[in-house]
Amino acid sequence: MNVYDSNRMKDLFYPHGYSETELMDDADIVVLNTCHIREKAVEKVYSDIGRIAKKRSIAKSGVFKLVVAGCVAQAEGLEIKKRAPIVDFVVGPQSYHNLPSMIEKNEDFLSDDFLQNDKFKNLIFKSSNKVSEFISIQEGCDKFCSFCVVPYTRGPEFSRPVQEIKNEIQKYIESGVQEIILLGQNVNAWSANGIDNKVWGLGKLINELAKIKELKFIRYMTSHPLDMDEELIEAHRDIEKLMPFLHLPVQSGSDNILKLMNRKHKVEDYLKIIEKVRNHIPKIAISGDFIIGFPGETDKDHQKTIELIKEIKFSQAYSFKYSIRPGTPAAVFFDQVDEKAKNIRLQEVQNILREQQFKFNQNSINSNIKVLVLKSGKKDNQYLGRSPYNQSVFFNNDKNNLIGSIVNIKVSEAYQNSISGHIA
Ligand code: SAH
Ligand code: SF4
Repeated sequence: MNVYDSNRMKDLFYPHGYSETELMDDADIVVLNTCHIREKAVEKVYSDIGRIAKKRSIAKSGVFKLVVAGCVAQAEGLEIKKRAPIVDFVVGPQSYHNLPSMIEKNEDFLSDDFLQNDKFKNLIFKSSNKVSEFISIQEGCDKFCSFCVVPYTRGPEFSRPVQEIKNEIQKYIESGVQEIILLGQNVNAWSANGIDNKVWGLGKLINELAKIKELKFIRYMTSHPLDMDEELIEAHRDIEKLMPFLHLPVQSGSDNILKLMNRKHKVEDYLKIIEKVRNHIPKIAISGDFIIGFPGETDKDHQKTIELIKEIKFSQAYSFKYSIRPGTPAAVFFDQVDEKAKNIRLQEVQNILREQQFKFNQNSINSNIKVLVLKSGKKDNQYLGRSPYNQSVFFNNDKNNLIGSIVNIKVSEAYQNSISGHIA
């Protein structure tokens, strides 16, 4: 979502006479778009600010403005300027549509008030130069898991209206985009009035978007188990353009920990959802997120997470050490797990997930898959695309510019993070 937001911020500046540069020395404005989800991401912001400060002292113009945007901006506000005086402007994730006017008026901090509706109505969508585009359709969260900052930084759950989503997609389609990735912190909580004036969920929305002829591939992330409804599962079964990949975080395999996390579901509920999904779409790839070493997590709880991972068999999944986030309920839980145990458990989880991913990739060997060619690879004549199951796919071909073509790839090799093959 930060990639999407960064593109929007860039687009907002064009009507004000700015253009994009990759070179910091040439920039009049540098925007750091930031993430607050784990402590590490926050630390990175301050080290980036430090690097920019050094650069600034040797920059040609010597007058560029530094903006800190995103969730760190929302959480820390003007504190950032106290800690790093080189920062000129601070803007939260729901008010960045005001960024150009803020700079013109020299207002140094703009949060907030979570005016998502206002923001989306004022964004600009310049034509795309890619074949696959992200589009935010849902933002924020009302679930308040005890470890998570999202409800405080992105604000309450908000769903964009159907027509607004269609208009934005149309813009991308006109410039050649063939794949859309629908985004949201809980994207399957998306809900709005449909074209028939009835309340729609994500399944219905995808059904509507699939009618756009030029749109060939639809993906979405991230989903929440509590919002996984029948309609969405059926959409996977019935809509060919919807790719067979589901990113559904569970965080832990222990009911005790899920309760402390305030996830409001049990392990068995998650297993039932996956079973139902696989009954409808047997080959679907399942991905997830895990938090390792949540306060109170015992060895027994950890073993339950391992068991769950072994039972599900993920195509790929993310795992993170629990990170204390100030202001969240879990930050003051007494029984924090020590760093050494967290590291050992994380290693164990990641080893199993890596094995599962490699096996999943190996199982693709000899299959034929439809791939949208996204870009050139690093080697000569190499191209890169994404499989229906969200694997990176490499292949060689000496034809000029296959980017944007849909090719049939016969898979011949599997690696840890990708597969490769040739045009069948
Ligand atoms: N809404 C999604 C996840 C969005 S946050 C869900 O509820 O499943 C993205 C991921 O960041 C989470 O799934 C979680 O695994 C991780 N995360 C969030 N807060 C964290 C924290 N305090 N420490 C470590 N990982 C965290
Ligand atoms: Fe954070 Fe997801 Fe929980 Fe919302 S549902 S609080 S985004 S982890």
